[in-house]
Amino acid sequence: MEKVKCLIIGSGPAGYTAAIYAARAGLKPVMYTGPQPGGQLMITNEVENYPGYPDGRQGPEMMEDFQKQAERFETDIRHEIITKVDFTGPIHKVWSESGHEIHSPAVIIATGASAKWLGIPGEDTLQNRGVSACAVCDGFFFRNQEVAIVGAGDTAAEESTYLAKICSKVHLIVRRDEMRASKIMQQRVLNNPKIQVHWNTETEEVLGEQAVEGIRVVNNKTGEKTVLNVTGFFVAIGHKPNTDIFKDWITLDDSGYISLPNPGRTHTNIEGVFACGDAQDKVYRQAVTAAGTGCMAALDAERYLVATEQ
Ligand code: NDP
Repeated sequence: MEKVKCLIIGSGPAGYTAAIYAARAGLKPVMYTGPQPGGQLMITNEVENYPGYPDGRQGPEMMEDFQKQAERFETDIRHEIITKVDFTGPIHKVWSESGHEIHSPAVIIATGASAKWLGIPGEDTLQNRGVSACAVCDGFFFRNQEVAIVGAGDTAAEESTYLAKICSKVHLIVRRDEMRASKIMQQRVLNNPKIQVHWNTETEEVLGEQAVEGIRVVNNKTGEKTVLNVTGFFVAIGHKPNTDIFKDWITLDDSGYISLPNPGRTHTNIEGVFACGDAQDKVYRQAVTAAGTGCMAALDAERYLVATEQ
């Protein structure tokens, strides 16, 4: 068993930012990176909307920068997965995949979320070559081009409206004859002349060798198949927050996101456990917002440790 003062679970922008702040406050943070060190930016190409990088930066390179900065202040980074937690007492118990037991009064959850994918041919192989799960991140690369987006929730509605400002035409692929998105967001979509909604339609395949050249869709009522000549294919069918191991302790909402009882603070329902990044954010989901909440979680953890004299 090992005792630490501050444990960070997860290594995306939120986790690394929490580490930088916690380390500079003298908390000697230990970070467990999880299964995808660096988080969702590791599967992103160019990041152009993160302030401080005027020429943009490749997602994986940016996460290397974050890691180096956390290491500069002596964050202890471990490339392992946390598989079990026990938040019953004031000292929180956590176990890694190899069975190592860690005790810490302060735990920062920064485990992020993972985009859901359709699982169709071409979707995986053309990722970052026209296939994306984030219109705000990648829409810009399809300026004045024709794109398609799959989904019918608030994200798909918001992202198709966003894409319509940049792209020449947006095909919204909806699998039923209605959308799940809020009425006001649906109206925005339906009133936008640049968005064509394909009802009762499913995507069968993303076409192209080196880059997206089109998608093949099928009408699930008539069976009619059509090829749409798009260069960008966005998937907006929801995210899954990586919070399964916390569900017996931490209050989650219906979609599995961590509920924070005090808006604007990172405290969870368990004293000494703080949450940041996409694990608790289903609205913004940006690297910069995740980093901001990572900073908040480290400051909240530090104040908690001072207040409880630990
Ligand atoms: P949702 O789970 O709300 O919606 C997912 C959508 O994807 C559904 O319409 C679903 O279709 C569709 N879908 C799922 N699987 C498939 C598939 N295999 N093929 C085709 N379509 C599929 O996810 P969102 O990301 O849209 O939203 C998540 C949460 O975040 C919601 O609570 C939402 O309100 C909130 N949000 C709020 C925003 C805001 O307030 N500005 C912005 C963005 C999100 P079907 O309806 O047929 O099941």
